[in-house]
Amino acid sequence: MIITAVSTIGMRWECPVMSDAMSVCRARQAIWVKVETDSGIFGIGEAFCFGSPLIIAKHIIEDQLAPTILGEDPTDIERLWQRMFWRNVPNGRTGLVMGCISGIDIALWDLLGKAAGLPISKLLGACLDRIPAYASGGFYAPGKDMDGLKREVERYLDMGYQDIKLKIGRSPELPGNAVNYTAGTEFAVSYEQDLERLSTARRLMGSRGALGADINAAWPVEIVLKTAEGFRQAGLDFLEEPILFEDIEGLKQLRAELKEIALMGYETIQGCRNFTAHMKENTMDIVQPDVGWGGGISEIRRIAQAAQGFSKPVSMHSFGSCVHFAASLQVAASLTHTAPIESEENDNMLKNGILKTPFAHDEHMNYYVPQKPGLGIDIDWEMVDKLRVF
Ligand SMILES: [Mg+2]
Repeated sequence: MIITAVSTIGMRWECPVMSDAMSVCRARQAIWVKVETDSGIFGIGEAFCFGSPLIIAKHIIEDQLAPTILGEDPTDIERLWQRMFWRNVPNGRTGLVMGCISGIDIALWDLLGKAAGLPISKLLGACLDRIPAYASGGFYAPGKDMDGLKREVERYLDMGYQDIKLKIGRSPELPGNAVNYTAGTEFAVSYEQDLERLSTARRLMGSRGALGADINAAWPVEIVLKTAEGFRQAGLDFLEEPILFEDIEGLKQLRAELKEIALMGYETIQGCRNFTAHMKENTMDIVQPDVGWGGGISEIRRIAQAAQGFSKPVSMHSFGSCVHFAASLQVAASLTHTAPIESEENDNMLKNGILKTPFAHDEHMNYYVPQKPGLGIDIDWEMVDKLRVF
């Protein structure tokens, strides 16, 4: 079997407006990679772009990376990963190129699973058949007040979620808040309102599960340090991406001061070596890589094995389409130390509207790992065509 074509599918869906600490989202977008072979079997992957124009990723995948794997045996996944990595080292070991390598890697694993008749989790040596998940929400939105947040948290609890994470940090009045450098500060709340949002969620949750907050790296370390006591009083259990991951000294300070509040991160780090450098400095308690950005299934396995060496659990970051979530479930199923993974609960047609069979879960929102070959999902290609932009 040889690779005969590598192409891309770009999709866009205008979503209800929402924002985190740093950005406003008006449309969901995704870029899939399709790797075709002379046997007729093809694989699908997703390159996560963190908002970059999809057309740039399309050119990187089709013009820069595809030539390095065309005509090769697609089942030699590790060899092809190394080819893509080493032939693009100067401009590609981090950033969008690594995101695109990740998307191709996922497609190769999907293809191998289809060729073998096994889900990716089994190819990796499965450990779990269902994956615990936390509800990822609490975004800011036009007109959304405390009652709106309460209704949202109550909905997650009614669904059976044990753990919930909210966005916080969109407070322009805070000195040094990076939101002031972004395109706008609409739907902002005060620092006090943010703490109230957290304590309201904890009150509704009672003694159930873990409460998390995600600052999307908007705050300077001084503000996070000042808030530590407020976080404790609000009943916070884990804090995601409080500051830029490059601020290693700041993160070490936070780790010392936040005490029982776990630090989770960092979705924008790529590659096993970069994650390992952080683990050595103890800047995170829960390791949170992204499969469509951090290096694909191949590299996430290495990151997870490094995390095991440091006795740290792994929680997959996921804010993409159904392909991204399926890949996250498949790789999480192969780990002994998976922590609840991110289950985004915003309206997202690209995750929930383009599958013939939706993702299944039990009454506590543990997701069943899809057991069909490859990623294990049935894509509704007619819906995909309706959302395609290229
Ligand atoms: Mg995040």
